[in-house]
Amino acid sequence: MKNLEEQTKQILKESHLYANKKLGQNFLINEQIVENIIEHAKVNDSDCIIEIGPGIGTLTEALLKKAGRVVCIEIDSNMIPILEKKFLRNPKFELINKDILKVDLKELIDNQKEMHGFTTIKVVANLPYYITTPILMKLLEEKLQIESITVMVQKEVAQRLAAIPGDEHTGAITHTIYYYTEPSIIMHVPKENFVPIPKVDSAVLQLKILKKPRIEVEDEKFFFELIKTAFSQKRKTLLNVLNNANLIRKENLIEILKELNLSEKIRGEKITIEQFAMLAKLLKNHTVK
Ligand code: SAM
Repeated sequence: MKNLEEQTKQILKESHLYANKKLGQNFLINEQIVENIIEHAKVNDSDCIIEIGPGIGTLTEALLKKAGRVVCIEIDSNMIPILEKKFLRNPKFELINKDILKVDLKELIDNQKEMHGFTTIKVVANLPYYITTPILMKLLEEKLQIESITVMVQKEVAQRLAAIPGDEHTGAITHTIYYYTEPSIIMHVPKENFVPIPKVDSAVLQLKILKKPRIEVEDEKFFFELIKTAFSQKRKTLLNVLNNANLIRKENLIEILKELNLSEKIRGEKITIEQFAMLAKLLKNHTVK
């Protein structure tokens, strides 16, 4: 029996394919890591799993052994015959040849619930890294009925996503993740566990979706716009960034910062999610410039 690395190379060779860098194709070749991902995601037969980017189906094969159903969404038509040959006879397997960012996930999930009776939907994937943020944003902002997201991402990205807002690795997306989920890094994965070997190490991130957002926010759209603006010029103070964005008169902003016990010199990345919520509320009550 060949190991996963040899199997992967052979499948690609037989299909006359090379890993497509533009599509973020780095295939997992460590069986133990595949098993660990599935174990951490607590995959069982009452779950419908959405797998984004199945590639040649390494993770898919292990998922099909444990899950009630596996719906795979793969953009690369070259992978389709490989996946069909492996799994088409398995009644639990469903394949959608489409860009994940263009799939109506709400409709897909409703169908899985109504037609197949699944109550628990989980996302498990080794993500294409070039679109990690848009994929996670889509999964969270569309407020889908998903229980958890367990995904391989670039290590540095995992650190930013799993940070507590206000910590050292915070970015604007940290707030979105923390607002909707309970994030944790469940495993570090050195780059040698993929074919071809990527430039960066990876980590498996798990996001458990909260029943309701972590904090109450009056106007979600404005709240997230404010956060995006605050992180748009990382080297500048919050006061200068918001002043440049013409959101409010500088003197009013100074007053608000005082009210929140925040220094005029504070930068966006040091602000907690609760402070952003308060800031958004107070800013909305002030006259815009
Ligand atoms: N799951 C496989 C594994 O673990 O070995 C492959 C993972 S590889 C990192 C990412 C996969 O996502 C590739 O198969 C790639 O073709 C696919 N992909 C890239 N962009 C995509 C998109 N926009 N929508 C769906 N799949 C995409």
